[in-house]
Amino acid sequence: MESDRADVTESSFLESATTILDRPRQYVDDAEMGVDHLAHKELLWKLSSTYLPNDVASLQRSLVRHVEYTLARRRYKLDTSSFYQATAHSVRDRLIERWTDTQQYSAKKGAKKVYYLSLEFLIGRSLGNAVSNLGLRGAYAEALRQIGYDLEDIMSEEKEPALGNGGLGRLASCFLDTLATQNYPAWGYGIRYKYGMFEQRIVNGKQVEFPDYWLTDGNPWEVERLDVQYPVRLFGHVREFQDPDGNTLYAWEGGEVVMAQAYDTPIPGYGTYNTNNMRLWSSKPSHEFNLASFNAGNYYGAVEAKERCESITSVLYPNDATEEGKRLRLKQQYFFVSATLQDIYRRFKKNVGRGSTTMKNMPDKVAIQLNDTHPAIAIPELMRLLLDIERLPWDEAWEITRKVFAYTNHTILPEALEKWPVPMITELLPRHMQIIYEINHRFLLEVQKMWPNDTARMSSMSIIEESSPKMVRMSNLAVIGSHTVNGVAMIHTKLLKSLLFPDFLLMWPEKFINVTNGVTPRRWLLQANPALASIYTGMVGPGWVNDLKRLEPIKTMAQDPQFRQRWRAAKQTNKQALAEWLYRSMNIRVDPNALFDMQIKRIHEYKRQLLNVLGIVHRYAEITQATPEQRKTMVPRVHIIAGKAAPGYVMAKNLVMLVCAVSEVVNSDAACRDLLKVVFVPNFNVSLAEILIPASDISQHISTAGMEASGTGNMKFVMNGGLIVGTMDGANIEIEQAIGEHNMFTFGAKADQVAAIRRKMAHDPPKIDPRLHRAMGMIRAGIFGKPDDGAYNQLLDAIDPRKDVYLTAHDFPSYLGAIAEADAAYQYEEKWTAKCIEAACSMWMFSSDRTIREYAAKIWNVEPLPFRPPRHHSER
Ligand SMILES: *Cc1c(COP(=O)(O)O)cnc(C)c1O
Repeated sequence: MESDRADVTESSFLESATTILDRPRQYVDDAEMGVDHLAHKELLWKLSSTYLPNDVASLQRSLVRHVEYTLARRRYKLDTSSFYQATAHSVRDRLIERWTDTQQYSAKKGAKKVYYLSLEFLIGRSLGNAVSNLGLRGAYAEALRQIGYDLEDIMSEEKEPALGNGGLGRLASCFLDTLATQNYPAWGYGIRYKYGMFEQRIVNGKQVEFPDYWLTDGNPWEVERLDVQYPVRLFGHVREFQDPDGNTLYAWEGGEVVMAQAYDTPIPGYGTYNTNNMRLWSSKPSHEFNLASFNAGNYYGAVEAKERCESITSVLYPNDATEEGKRLRLKQQYFFVSATLQDIYRRFKKNVGRGSTTMKNMPDKVAIQLNDTHPAIAIPELMRLLLDIERLPWDEAWEITRKVFAYTNHTILPEALEKWPVPMITELLPRHMQIIYEINHRFLLEVQKMWPNDTARMSSMSIIEESSPKMVRMSNLAVIGSHTVNGVAMIHTKLLKSLLFPDFLLMWPEKFINVTNGVTPRRWLLQANPALASIYTGMVGPGWVNDLKRLEPIKTMAQDPQFRQRWRAAKQTNKQALAEWLYRSMNIRVDPNALFDMQIKRIHEYKRQLLNVLGIVHRYAEITQATPEQRKTMVPRVHIIAGKAAPGYVMAKNLVMLVCAVSEVVNSDAACRDLLKVVFVPNFNVSLAEILIPASDISQHISTAGMEASGTGNMKFVMNGGLIVGTMDGANIEIEQAIGEHNMFTFGAKADQVAAIRRKMAHDPPKIDPRLHRAMGMIRAGIFGKPDDGAYNQLLDAIDPRKDVYLTAHDFPSYLGAIAEADAAYQYEEKWTAKCIEAACSMWMFSSDRTIREYAAKIWNVEPLPFRPPRHHSER
């Protein structure tokens, strides 16, 4: 190292200055430079008009340079974590050049942009995704290897930003990956929570939540945009006044003003230069705010108020599929929406007045997708901007607004539908409350015209629920204010139309459409499962990554014994890797030849982890009573359960406790030794999913029919060559159609039977299955301990056959049937492998690439705009 440095001669220095130098970071004033303006510009262009070199030696120089100059670390004392930081910065440089060029290009072209508004983005780690999407995985791996580091080790140093709860947030991130890959001009907008999803630890057999302060070591993937800040008002009052023509106008004034500060994260596409943006907002006190309160002489009060400003974006609400109705959450929603709309508005307004563009053209340039109702306050906010700032007449403003917004519904569960008390909105957002009332008034006139004097319809369609206090139904507001409403799987859209919005459907039949969810093959195959990915690439070339349909022909290979052998070897590699991971991180030994069965998702009663646990307890009973002959016929199984319970969700936390207790008993019972292991893996997140999913043989997606909107975990598992035990719910139904019924183990009541079953059991309780009776008896008897708070009894009481809301007891016998079928099939190794191959290679429908193409065509009306750099790398 020392001699290397001494070796820098003038000529090698010059060489590095011309071929290795990064883009200039500092532009000096013309005057200060004292050079001819044009020559200066030319030099500037020359210095910045080529991309950074990506050969191994250049990457090494960039790494070392970041260690020394960015991190200011000594060159001899480098741990993996410093090298993670350096690698991240080196990759970031390469993202940034593509990113700024993409943004400049799309601005120049004046393309219509998609804005995906989501309170959650479950991004996962960025380093692996970035090197892979940039096509630099091999080069970085080699560059690091030569200097004694392993890219995989370095990648695992990254702390993942957990800015989402589960499926909804992960969907948003899969969509951003696809939007960039398919060259759509698209931005994601969200919140930069200081504390993301809590970290789950198991302490004394119980879930304990720890704060996730993910920014401790900094975040090399974001760019702080001190130049992008907007004021956001809260509270205050509405002033009514007349303009010179006698029109009544409104101004929202007073209250508090908080600043929204932008943080940008480049989102690279795969196999394209296109790099989109995810802009997350962070709250901070405004200057105006500071001065006013400090000058008032109330020092402590002012400091407290300052803290309040910063608290708006401090924490992600850890509820999945339930609403809490907390005031701070409403503040978050409005804060995020206000900053986002100001930003979109400013970008659009650069075009207004240019050529013939007017405000009316906003829908030609702007498509806003609302990821659930969480950002639906954007509808009255855009109205406010158009009415109060632009001073457009109501009808014009309303037409623009409706053409801009589209709304994705994610659930029909009543406990998940957002409602805000009218007094709360009135206090926090007085002008918006007025506008919501006006939207509702005009809408109800339409209802009255269509169904005169139908008060029942009026009250169910109204945005305002006439309860005490009155509530604002955000879903009705979102439907009324959007041009398109979509469900996320066929069955979900059907239920949405028939149960949630039947009257709206009669009014606007063409407004409701289905767009089935999808997941990105970049993260969930290429990155998570290199063993399988390399088989695919070997068979059909690398193009499958952006075109999953190319895997279809591989289905016929299911008949080829040699191919099956290779397939099994890949699965075995992944199972082995997981077994080692479990040993290293949890000190649990599992046999990689056993069947790996996984249920990994948020813990929720409707997802029925309890059904799974009862099945495991049943199996445990069977094992302990089996004769040596019977034992030989049993399939050795490893059951993996993972997922977080919302901190206030007692039933879900009880369930976690029960899983941990069952695991403790089963794993230490000699009778189970080679037949059954149960593992609760704590702190389920994206990185963990990437380790677990490729190693699964079976995964369980067993929600009560009609309750899981789509599910996306199901898609990831099948793509990775695992099979599903599942109910006819969500996307399971479409997956079964795509892969064939013989490749899925289905069971349970169908969605259209659930209501009748519930009605019947209320007055005619069914007899309890003896196997279920035994399993419940074991739990009640205290075989898995007896928690003081009666936690297990509480779980079991809820499935009493008379009030078995989730049909757990009802579906238990057919569930055991499906599990038994899976076991039986697993024993025929060759047939099993053929099923996995057929299923995995039939999954193109469930790539988010297909999903996004549908959104683009049916909802957004946008076209891809591929950015190609003016010169290729190699020309430098
Ligand atoms: C895919 C995913 C989910 C969603 O899983 P479902 O089975 O669809 O509920 C939740 N969390 C993480 C981390 C995921 O990757």
